[in-house]
Amino acid sequence: MLFKINEPLSKYTTFKIGGDAKYFFIAKSSDELIKAINEAKKKKLNYIILGGGSNILVSDSGFDGLVIINKNDGIKFQKEKVIAGSGTILMNLVHKSIEKGLTGLEWAVGIPGTLGGAVRGNAGAYRGQTSDNVSKVEVLRNDKKIILDKKDCSFGYRQSIFQNNKDLILSVELKLKAGDRAESEKKIEKLLEDRKNKQPLEFPSAGSVFKNVLIDDNVNLNKLRNLPREYLEYKKIPAAWLIDTLDLKGKTIGGAQVSSKHANFIINLDKATANDVLQLISYIKMKVRDKYNIELMEEVEYIGF
Ligand SMILES: Cc1cc2nc3c(=O)[nH]c(=O)nc-3n(C[C@H](O)[C@H](O)[C@H](O)COP(=O)(O)OP(=O)(O)OC[C@H]3O[C@@H](n4cnc5c(N)ncnc54)[C@H](O)[C@@H]3O)c2cc1C
Repeated sequence: MLFKINEPLSKYTTFKIGGDAKYFFIAKSSDELIKAINEAKKKKLNYIILGGGSNILVSDSGFDGLVIINKNDGIKFQKEKVIAGSGTILMNLVHKSIEKGLTGLEWAVGIPGTLGGAVRGNAGAYRGQTSDNVSKVEVLRNDKKIILDKKDCSFGYRQSIFQNNKDLILSVELKLKAGDRAESEKKIEKLLEDRKNKQPLEFPSAGSVFKNVLIDDNVNLNKLRNLPREYLEYKKIPAAWLIDTLDLKGKTIGGAQVSSKHANFIINLDKATANDVLQLISYIKMKVRDKYNIELMEEVEYIGF
C-alpha cells in the first residue's frame, strides 16, 4: 500500500488551514480503509480518518502520522431503509433520498462532510439531528467488524460514543419515511436560503465553532437577564447569541475573524493560520467566561495539536 508523503491538509479542510500530513491516503472502500489502518498499526504510525474535514482545525505543523481520507461511498435503498458507506457525502444522501421519495433527512441539507463525520458528531440543524435517522452503525472495533444498534451509540447533543473510542465507522443504516418529493424539495430550498442569509458561506470556515449551551444547574441565569424567552423554553442558549452580546462580531486576530454575519462562525478571512484561529477561540472563551461564567465548549475538533 503506497502512502503519499507530506500532503498539505489545507486542501482537505473547509477552513483551508493546516500543515502537512506526514503520510496520506485516500480510501475508496471499506476494505481500503481497513487495509490502511492495518498498515498504520503495523508501522506503528499514529493515524486519523477524515471525512469532509468540515469540523476540524488542523495545526500549522500538520499531523505526524497517517491521514486517511474516507471516500467509501455508495448508497443502497431498500424501501424506507437506506444503507450508505460512511464516506458518502451527506448532501448527496439528502438529495438521493428525496429523489427516491423519502423524507426525514431534509434538515441536513447544507451540512458539508460525510455521513461518518455526521454520525460521530451527531450533526444537527433546524431541530433535526443525525441520530433521529440512524438505526444501525457498522464499525471496525478491535480489528473486527460489528454492527451497533442506535441505542449502543450513546447519542446526545453533538455527542456519540465514537468520540470516546477508536471505532472506525464503516457504514450506516438509516430509517426514513415515504414522503412527497415536491414538498421535500420546497423544504430544502427554504433551508438553503436560510443558511445563505445567516451564514458566511462565501468564506472558508468549519461551521459553528462552539456548541450551544444547554441550560442546566451550572448556568447562572442571574447573569443572563437579557436572555430571550425562547431559549429558556428550548433549554439551550445559542453560542452565537452569547458571542454577539459581547460585540465580538468582526473581532480579528491575524487572518481569522469572528464572522460579522454569524457570531459562532470563525472565518478564514485572509490566509489565517491555525494559530490565529486558536487565539481567537481562546479570546472568545475568555470573554464569555468573564461575562457569563459559562465555559463554551468547542464543536470543532483539534487535529495535530
Ligand atoms: C458551512 C458549514 C456549515 C455547517 N453546518 C453544520 C450544521 O448545521 N450542523 C452541524 O452539526 N455541523 C455543521 N457543520 C460542521 C460539519 O460539517 C459537521 O460536523 C460534519 O458532520 C462533519 O463531517 P466531516 O465528514 O466533515 O467530518 P471531519 O471534519 O472530516 O471529521 C470530524 C471528526 O470525525 C471523525 N470521523 C470522520 N469520519 C469518521 C468515520 N468514518 N469513523 C470514525 N470517525 C470519523 C474525524 O476523525 C474527526 O475526529 C458545518 C460546517 C460548515 C463548514
